[in-house]
Amino acid sequence: MSARATVTVDLGKITENTRAIVDALGGRDVIGVTKVTCGSPEIALAMLAGGASGLADSRLENVARMRAVGITAPIWLLRSPVPALADDTVRVIDVSLQSEIVTVRALDAAAAAHGAKHGIVAMVDLGDLREGVMPEELPRFLEAVMALEHIDIVGIGTSLTCYGAIVPTGDNLGELVALASVAEKQVGHPLVVSGGMSSSLDALVAGELPEGVTNLRIGESILLGVSTVTRQPILGLHTDVITLTAPIIECMRKPSKPRGVSAQDAFGGRPTFEDRGVRRRAICAIGRQDVPPEGLVALDSRAQVLGASSDHLIVDVEDLPTPPRVGDTLTFVPNYSATLRLFTSDYVDKVFTPAG
Ligand SMILES: *Cc1c(COP(=O)(O)O)cnc(C)c1O
Repeated sequence: MSARATVTVDLGKITENTRAIVDALGGRDVIGVTKVTCGSPEIALAMLAGGASGLADSRLENVARMRAVGITAPIWLLRSPVPALADDTVRVIDVSLQSEIVTVRALDAAAAAHGAKHGIVAMVDLGDLREGVMPEELPRFLEAVMALEHIDIVGIGTSLTCYGAIVPTGDNLGELVALASVAEKQVGHPLVVSGGMSSSLDALVAGELPEGVTNLRIGESILLGVSTVTRQPILGLHTDVITLTAPIIECMRKPSKPRGVSAQDAFGGRPTFEDRGVRRRAICAIGRQDVPPEGLVALDSRAQVLGASSDHLIVDVEDLPTPPRVGDTLTFVPNYSATLRLFTSDYVDKVFTPAG
């Protein structure tokens, strides 16, 4: 029983989830995305053990962490670097996702200085309105990149369900495949067709993932076992890969409705409370600095997260069969944003099982 809030990661389940996705995708490449775990090398290795053909992260600092433990698998950079970081990028990254020619030119110069080649995936915006050139601009972008001696155009790709919440379908992914076949003629060699992220698994399940999509970049579904379209379990994956335990520092029965004149809470919100009478509540030693309470669900469904301030998480434990005591822990399953914040918090211990 830990005295500190602790995230526990079941590496065996990460490997099994990766394997299940690789198998379901029938020969397409799966790139395991580690960014939500700050590039945890343990998790990266578990993804590779499950059949991921490479890894991807959005930040160079995270990639450095993976390279430092000797991971030599191909690593993709998901977020384009600023041109000033081109040199750092070509040192550790095999393939980066690109949409701005100024950045690709900087990468070309950096690769030339290293006597190396840098691979890019040209990103196309298919309606989600995050990164990517507009489809009609793709030929012009590729033409400009083809003039660069130290850049290999490895593929074309897209991101969906990130900013605009647009669902991958046979239509938009079909458009990607059609753009790829035109682009292959233009560049004169076969291209990887990177058809998105976890959300594209829904297209697979719906039978709408085109044959021509040869690659997906998967993070959340491996780590949390859910669809990012519905946030429901998908492909029978484990949904309890990552759990949070937090120690209890107070456990008392109190009214469920605050008493006195109501103003603002610590974050400027004006909370409302349902009067459920006197209830037993536990306070756990973790707070908004480490995790958004909305993103936590208690593993025991009889306990219910009520809210949090910076450092105190309040949980209704009235319905637990035995009242927890100070020093006991409660266990929660975090959603994506909670996982992201937990891994980023230095105040939360990370434990990997089985220990390596
Ligand atoms: C985050 C990200 C992914 C992985 O997304 P998931 O929903 O976690 O699978 C893939 N590609 C890009 C460009 C990303 O930014």
